[in-house]
Formats: sequence, structure tokens, C-alpha cells
Amino acid sequence: MTADRIVDVRASFVGRDDPEPPAAGKAGRRGDHWLGGKVANPMTRYAEFRDSRDAGIGADDGGTVVVEVEAESGAVGVWTTGGLAAAAIIEQHLARLVKGERASAHTRIWDRMFASTLRYGRKGLVLHAISAVDLAIWDLHGKVVGEPVHALIGGRIRDSVQVYATGPRPETAAALGFAGAKLPLVWGPSEGEAGFRNNVALAREARAAVPADFPLMYDCWMALDVDYAVRLAHAVEPLGFTWIEEPLPPDDYAGLRRIRDRMPPTMTLNTGEHEYTAAGFRLLCEAGVDVIQPDLGWCGGMTEVLRIADVARVYDVRVIPHTCGMPNYHFVVTQPGGDLAEFPVLSTDGVSVAPQHAPLFSGEDIPVNGWLTVGEAPGFGLTLNPDMRLVPAVPGLPGVPGSRRGGGVDDQGQ
Ligand SMILES: [Mg+2]
Repeated sequence: MTADRIVDVRASFVGRDDPEPPAAGKAGRRGDHWLGGKVANPMTRYAEFRDSRDAGIGADDGGTVVVEVEAESGAVGVWTTGGLAAAAIIEQHLARLVKGERASAHTRIWDRMFASTLRYGRKGLVLHAISAVDLAIWDLHGKVVGEPVHALIGGRIRDSVQVYATGPRPETAAALGFAGAKLPLVWGPSEGEAGFRNNVALAREARAAVPADFPLMYDCWMALDVDYAVRLAHAVEPLGFTWIEEPLPPDDYAGLRRIRDRMPPTMTLNTGEHEYTAAGFRLLCEAGVDVIQPDLGWCGGMTEVLRIADVARVYDVRVIPHTCGMPNYHFVVTQPGGDLAEFPVLSTDGVSVAPQHAPLFSGEDIPVNGWLTVGEAPGFGLTLNPDMRLVPAVPGLPGVPGSRRGGGVDDQGQ
């Protein structure tokens, strides 16, 4: 018997009939959340989806999924992802590749998951599922040995990291001490010159609401084309905007190069929250982007972001990860160049600092005066809220081997 031998991998939904489902963070987004309002996105060109991002892209991914990985010792590592489809990949494909492995065998387990899903994976939802399992295993590993993940991945270089705020209220971000404020771009190219002028007017309003030297950024969420992005960058650069983010659909590497070549030299071109694996980020580095923004919950997890960071280092490209919560901060504090991280202001009104995964998890570190201090609790320091009623996300199909009801080996003891 080995204490860190993995004996179970579970994907569960948070009970949908809970009287108080998660109220903050992605887990509990409601229709009135600022992120669900009018935000420029790839569906903006369809008039019926123009005024609500959630209407066009289903931003909550179809429900919060809790991933639990249990060791022989009884220790449980946790993380979360979204949607029934990811849960099905975890339970019906990945789980059997993980059970029996040791929680410390990160690169081996990652390779088993990635190689086994190559025929339908490599990017997107499969990588979301792999990332969730990988992060839960890192959390488990830390809990088994009593160490925080930042210690397991090489040791932290700094105790605290400065964070910028993503949200609709830059004046609040400035008042709360954040390092800067990133605004969602509201109007897309299909909304013409009037929309462009509105975007610039909003940028001007933001500048007027904060101190003159407070950094501002525009998040364009895959909504633009090359010419629009270049025009936007030149229009907001005099207003002290320091970067534009993700202006193009993720596969348009050549377009990113053309934007970078025509942007003001004082601004950076950031992107990557919808890119996957070190192979994908190599293409972004070769395209000349200044900052890559892997999301640890999507790009392949902690195991893969360490390899992405190696790629970025040899290209001399900065890494400022996309949101993700505690795994992000455990990673950043171990990186030589990791002096800035994102903190999404996920309260519904966008004016208060709320933990990113509350009330699903407790134990998240949150920023104080714009600095987030990463703690010493084992794993990612997270505890699943015992009040959450978890229900199997994939109840299984009769007669399907390996499913929870299906007559396979997993049925033992069910
Ligand atoms: Mg973004």
C-alpha cells in the first residue's frame, strides 16, 4: 500500500436545487452579472446575440463540475471545471488512466491522459478536462505530503504577487489598490464606426475616473480583426492603455504578427487564454506576442504550464496567466518573471473583491491593497465546502462498461 496511490477520480455537479448555490465566481454567475452583459465577442456579429455575451457563447459552460481525486490514505485533492461533457471525459476516459497511479507522478499521468485522448483531443474541452484532473492531483499531492504546491514545483521566489483587476469599474480597482484595471471591450467591428467611437469614449471615461498613471488595458475577447485592433491600439495608447488582449480568434497567428508589427511600441500585445499546451504557446511566441496568458484550468494544468513557461523563457516572452484562482498564484510566485497576476473582480456588481471559487471552496487567498500573499497550506489550500451537495455528473448508461451503472469494474462497491 502506498499512501499517495490514487484510488478514485470523481466528477460531480453541485446540486442544482441548493437553496443558495454559489453566488460569486464563475460557479454562480447569474444573468445580471457584468460578464454576461454586452461584451464584444465572436458572436457579436449576430444581431440576436449582440447585447449579451452569455446569450451567444454560454459562458458558464453548462454547470459547475467538482473534480475529486482520492488517495489510498483517504486524502482528497479537488479542483473544478465546467459542463457535463468535460465530466464525461473525466469519468469515462481519464479516470481509468489515473487510478492506481501515484499522486506525485505528474508528468507520467499527464502523458497518459494526453496520449490517450490525442485522436479527439489536443485542445479545447479535452484539455479542460485534463487540466482539472491535473490540478486536483497537484492539490492531492500537496495534501499527502503536507506541502503547498508552490513548494512542490520548485519553490517560490516571492511571497506575494501584485494583481491587476479585471472588471467593469476601473475607479474601484484603483481605489482598492490594484496594479491596473482591464476593461472588457463592449462593441465589435460589426457595430461600425459608432461602436468604435463608443469603445474609445469608454476608454476616455475610464481614464478620467482613475489617476493619470494608473494602467488600463482592453480585453477584446477574440472579437476583432487586424485593422480594427491596430486602430483601437493607436486610439487608446494616448489614454495610457498598456495592452490590448486577445484581439483575434486563437488560430490567427499570422494576424497577431501583423497587429504586433503595427501597434504602438509602448503597448504590449497579450493573448493566450484560449490556447493549449506548450505546442500551441510556441506558435504564439513565434507570432511575436509580448505576453502569453495561459489559463491553468484550461491549457493543460500545472504540469503543462511549467512547460509553457519554459517555452516562453527561451523566446523571452512574459507570462501573466489568465485568472484560474489559486493554481495561478502558486505558479506565478515560483517564476523569475512572475511579478504580476490577474484577479477577476467577480462580484456580480463588479465593485467588491470576492474569492473566485466561493462558496464552492474555502481557503482562497484574496488580495489586500493589490497584493496577493500565497499561503503555506498544503496543496492549493482549498477545502470543498461540506455544505455543497454533490451529485454524480455522469450517472452512467446501463450496460456501458466503465460507467457508474454499466457493469464495468467501476461498479464494484457502487
Ligand atoms: Mg481575457
